Amino acid sequence: MRNLVVVLGDQLDEASAAFDGFDPAQDRVWMCEAPSEATYVWSHKTRIAIFLSAMRHFRDVLTARGWTVDYHATGTHPHATLADALAESIAARKPKGVVVVEPGEWRLARDLERVCAEAQRPLEVRIDRHFITTVAEFTAWMGARKQPRMEHFYRAVRSRTGVLMDADGQPEGGEWNYDHDNREAFGKNGPGFVPKPARFLPDALTAEVLAMVAERYADHPGELQHFDWPVTRADALIALEDFIAHRLGPFGPFEDAVWDTEPLLYHSRLSAAMNLKLLNPREVIDAAIAAYHAKQAPIASVEGFVRQIIGWREYVRGLYWWHMPQYLDDNALDAQQDLPKLYWTGDTEMNCLKHVVRDTLAHGYAHHIQRLMITGLFALLFGVKPKAVHAWYLAVYVDAVEWVEVPNTIGMSQFADGGLMGSKPYIASGKYIDKMTNYCKGCRFDPAVSTGPKACPFTTLYWDFLDRHRERFAGHPRLVMQVRNLERLKPDAVAAIRREAEGLRRTLV
Ligand code: FAD
Ligand code: SF4
Repeated sequence: MRNLVVVLGDQLDEASAAFDGFDPAQDRVWMCEAPSEATYVWSHKTRIAIFLSAMRHFRDVLTARGWTVDYHATGTHPHATLADALAESIAARKPKGVVVVEPGEWRLARDLERVCAEAQRPLEVRIDRHFITTVAEFTAWMGARKQPRMEHFYRAVRSRTGVLMDADGQPEGGEWNYDHDNREAFGKNGPGFVPKPARFLPDALTAEVLAMVAERYADHPGELQHFDWPVTRADALIALEDFIAHRLGPFGPFEDAVWDTEPLLYHSRLSAAMNLKLLNPREVIDAAIAAYHAKQAPIASVEGFVRQIIGWREYVRGLYWWHMPQYLDDNALDAQQDLPKLYWTGDTEMNCLKHVVRDTLAHGYAHHIQRLMITGLFALLFGVKPKAVHAWYLAVYVDAVEWVEVPNTIGMSQFADGGLMGSKPYIASGKYIDKMTNYCKGCRFDPAVSTGPKACPFTTLYWDFLDRHRERFAGHPRLVMQVRNLERLKPDAVAAIRREAEGLRRTLV
């Protein structure tokens, strides 16, 4: 046997570099459902199911090509970890070499290197062509930058690739960024009619996986009964078409909006399909740009959407590889609290958290602002250990893979990297949540109150956060006003906030 071609669960790309030169007469594909991948963080049942179902569908695509796939399904092999299963396969098959595309996790990349070194087999790691910017290109762009910023990276990528650029090398529509046209909130009557996304009800293969997950991972968080995610490339393409036709138009203006009864709003719901590599980011942005050229979507929405993909998505991947393995140990604000139990149940009187956690447990999905402004913000203000916050986000979302989850959680939402990902911590009181959402209308707390029985925990913890970190942020140009506002509070008011925050920390964990 020549090559054992390893395909990981988030590498389901039919055009993958792993298959370059694949010769079915001398090569074999190797795939494995390793239980530890579902348990090393306490994974949501839907997250486990989407990976396993998509893997099994992909196995069948390769098999239909006439290729041999060594597929190690759950329960058919004795190994807990991918590394152990691979070591045994190498020993049994004795391939001349092992081929893999760059894994999406530092840990797995090191495991594969170790297993191949121990088995004395060369490991060929091929570039992941799915991404528009390679790790090497990102590293070169970083150079000696101390304060990298996504916007600079994004403009450089657009100039390099010509995406949304006109013939004179200027941004299409005349501007790089249309955020000033976006950021709309709904009036008090809410969004009105929001088109529902295409749903993909389980076929026989998915139904089998759902039954297996329900039984084997019965004690894991989350529900399975709403499972409607695309798990094949054909369905992912339908999901893309559905988004472009029905939600891309209003995507931009309402990108940051939140409404309690509409957990998806105009978001694409394409992250899982992209992260599994069922969809290529180029085809996703091409479809959005074609809608702009056909006058089916405004430039503000199309540019905003393209920026999420060739900007944020690629940027966080670059930062992940640039800053690992340090990222997982970052804790710039020395946060030491455990994660409140409500993150696993949604049982809380805080209406905003209740909605976001319950939607998350039901679907394995919450949109970006819910992740940042509600669950992320609360963990930051509460002072939860960044590693515990990371373990939650990696566990509960269908799109969660470390390369994208870590910089968003540890960097963007928890500021634990000390400013690598964002220039300041994303902090706000309940009053901001009240302005941007309708959650507070149905809440027993008052977002303007920081102590006493009606006190909103976000507002209490916001002042407490500023108090705990006032020295660090007093000189920060973008936080100085907030620290000054704190300094206007009377000492007994600050003492009462501290007591109230301590009470929350005692009762919520
Ligand atoms: P849309 O709003 O429709 O956006 C379009 C696409 O842009 C997304 O599908 C995604 O591929 C990309 N995108 C948008 N924002 C980001 C971002 N900040 N970083 C990377 N890509 C982005 N995204 C993940 O894919 N996996 C994660 O594990 C993940 N964890 C997150 C954790 C936290 C704390 C936060 C604040 C954000 C996280 N994100 C993660 C980013 C973002 O929330 C999701 O990509 C988005 O909500 C997915 O839903 P959508 O496909 O409907 O996105
Ligand atoms: Fe959330 Fe506070 Fe608003 Fe209640 S009042 S929904 S806890 S921000």
